[in-house]
Amino acid sequence: MKKQLFGKTREGGEAYLYTLRNQNGVRADITNYGGAIVNLLVPDRAGKLADVALGYDTLAGYETDKAYLGAIIGRFANRIAHGRFTLHGVTYSLPRNNGENSLHGGAAGFDKRLWTANDISGNGAPALELTYLSRDGEEGYPGNLSAKIVYTLTSQNELKIDYSAATDKSTVVNLTNHSYFNLAGQGEDDILRHGVTIHARHFTPVNASLIPTGEIRSVQGTPLDFTRMATIGSRISADDQQLKLAGGYDHNWIPGRESDRALVLAAKVHEPVSGRVLEVLTSQPGIQFYSGNFLDGTICGKQGKLYQRRYGFCLETQHYPDSPNHPDFPSTELQPGQHYRETTVFRFSAR
Ligand code: BGC
Repeated sequence: MKKQLFGKTREGGEAYLYTLRNQNGVRADITNYGGAIVNLLVPDRAGKLADVALGYDTLAGYETDKAYLGAIIGRFANRIAHGRFTLHGVTYSLPRNNGENSLHGGAAGFDKRLWTANDISGNGAPALELTYLSRDGEEGYPGNLSAKIVYTLTSQNELKIDYSAATDKSTVVNLTNHSYFNLAGQGEDDILRHGVTIHARHFTPVNASLIPTGEIRSVQGTPLDFTRMATIGSRISADDQQLKLAGGYDHNWIPGRESDRALVLAAKVHEPVSGRVLEVLTSQPGIQFYSGNFLDGTICGKQGKLYQRRYGFCLETQHYPDSPNHPDFPSTELQPGQHYRETTVFRFSAR
């Protein structure tokens, strides 16, 4: 695995760029700063490679980023209402960095940390292990949490992400990856012509601050029904209260699954011109489909590209947003002695 210096952090730490390649020319460049996927080159139907991930050319881009491009999100992905939750009778306060809510782990979440990297490639598959110890009280969360992410690039053009964590005190955990994709090539255009399938009959509707109301609602008859393929653009401006609240798609879907731990195909995206296909498989109970509504052209991304509104989409596999405040949602609690383990696969192909 090739390793090169990406830059020095403001604190003087060294961030590196690690290159994972397979025999089909697929290449993922990952930095140990925030565990971000920086570049992701995958072939179209003619075999032509394009970089399908939004990102920055420099480490400084990641240090000042507020859109979480490509990064690992923790300790708690998505929102926690009012930056507050109670666990075993103790109320914890978190930084409110998104209006009144806490978003993506707080002011300096896992996306703003330098992880320890190890090349653990084996059996011909390049694999990068990243570990990070989040101290008791960091960003308001209880317990020393040791987190581990393993990125593996398979010969089937899959980028597999294995997440694991353990704690020494009861806490909450919700880890994801926040890559923005554009299967036509990053920075070229918006993603509205991409076709999307989400294998989910239900989603968690939100209030005006994008916190789940607690209801589990059927997608049937709504523009959030992606059980059959639809382009992102076809209904995004529909007269629908949920789309209006979020300014587009920014919701948690609940993929159907038969058993708790199994990997299920949660979503599939197809870009018609290049033929590129992304399938997302996951062990997690939820998936946030976010259509890049808050991108507004103020981010200067890789190769000088300006990331305009809806220039990328995210498929963030996760536990439901604000779970610590919803006892009915699948639990995000992690106790000492338990092992948090989740897997997500981004599988690329072309047709
Ligand atoms: C959230 C969006 C948020 C974005 C930040 C997504 O995971 O669902 O609401 O604006 O992250 O880039």
